[in-house]
Amino acid sequence: MIDIAAHFPILSKPVHGKKLHYLDSGATSLKAQSVIDAVNAYNAEYSANVHRGTYYFSEIATKRFEDVREKVRTLINARSSHEIIFTKGTTDSINLVAHALGSQILDSNSEILLTTMEHHSNIVPWQLVCERTGAKIVVAEIDDNGALDILKIKNLINPRTKIVGVAHISNALGTVNDIKAITELAHAVGAKVVVDGAQAIAHVRVDVQDLNCDFYAFSAHKMYGPTGAGVLFGKRELLDAMPPYQGGGDMIASVTFEKTTYAKVPYKFEAGTPNIAGVIGLGAAVDFVREIGFKWIESHEDDLIAYAMKKLSEVKGLKLIGTAAHKKAAVSFVMEGVHPHDIATVVDRHGVAIRAGHLCAQPVMKRFGVTALSRASFGVYNTREDVDALCAALKSVSEVFGA
Ligand code: PMP
Repeated sequence: MIDIAAHFPILSKPVHGKKLHYLDSGATSLKAQSVIDAVNAYNAEYSANVHRGTYYFSEIATKRFEDVREKVRTLINARSSHEIIFTKGTTDSINLVAHALGSQILDSNSEILLTTMEHHSNIVPWQLVCERTGAKIVVAEIDDNGALDILKIKNLINPRTKIVGVAHISNALGTVNDIKAITELAHAVGAKVVVDGAQAIAHVRVDVQDLNCDFYAFSAHKMYGPTGAGVLFGKRELLDAMPPYQGGGDMIASVTFEKTTYAKVPYKFEAGTPNIAGVIGLGAAVDFVREIGFKWIESHEDDLIAYAMKKLSEVKGLKLIGTAAHKKAAVSFVMEGVHPHDIATVVDRHGVAIRAGHLCAQPVMKRFGVTALSRASFGVYNTREDVDALCAALKSVSEVFGA
């Protein structure tokens, strides 16, 4: 048994005098000590801007920053590190591709296929690009278990479909989508596939060549890294052809008032000083998950999800929302007669941190006829003991509210 919890300093801090049971990694994961150390080392030991200086510290910072690009390339098995763009996070990555690719390939005859289970950050950027281009959003509905039907998707994809945007794993339901199958269908009509990998990157081994998706977005802070840093993977030929998203320093080849030419990818999409400390921290996070290994991560978390589903389904008055056969990372539920916010507040007094609300997935709430859900989501540091603590705390929710 690996002592993963020892790598996370927050886990030794009591909450309301109780041991912390952190079950909200879907919102943000805890930060590994090696990540904290890497960020501190940048700030304390070699804090300089990247790609600019010709002096010692700037060269070190640039080297470490660019090393992370290669680490990320290896993590997701991209063909080239030029396909790795550093962003602020998943939201920023999706806005980048929606803006740059969307304005290039969409017109008033185009359709963008999304699914009911998308996070708002894989809906709103597409709505913004639809306002500019006249393109239309088409939605693939989910079934009562919170799963997509690949045949329905097949029927919705047609020659007008230019982009398919889909979550690898749903943050609200935990559903794992068959990205490979969706990509095959999309490519058959020449549509590009944008995958929201925010909830997948820490939980499954992602291989963008195997998935064959065109874009893959994720955030460092959901994989034990810092906030404010993330990645957009894009296929080289698509990135080369796309116009820049933002203008500024570092993304140009030359500037005159008459004409500006742009830097090559990935720099064309990295205007301004990046989140250097965040990217360095992301590199440490990549090292951390790769050291543990996805074989261990997947089997440990699959066990936890199965255990949580079983234990929670035994809690009186509790109904699981999101019961797809292929499920990871998160378990959501409602309790008869108790608002999810009240549930979260009561279990917090027991040291159990869960999320409550619309989970930035209001179409999912509408689909299941609720205004909010309670969600327990998992990370490498969680154990069955955390699930037991949640279930025990939920008993006192029933007592407090007479549910
Ligand atoms: N997509 C999904 C599925 C998410 O869970 C989240 C974060 N909750 C995001 C996108 C947005 O990520 P970020 O806030 O890091 O940009």
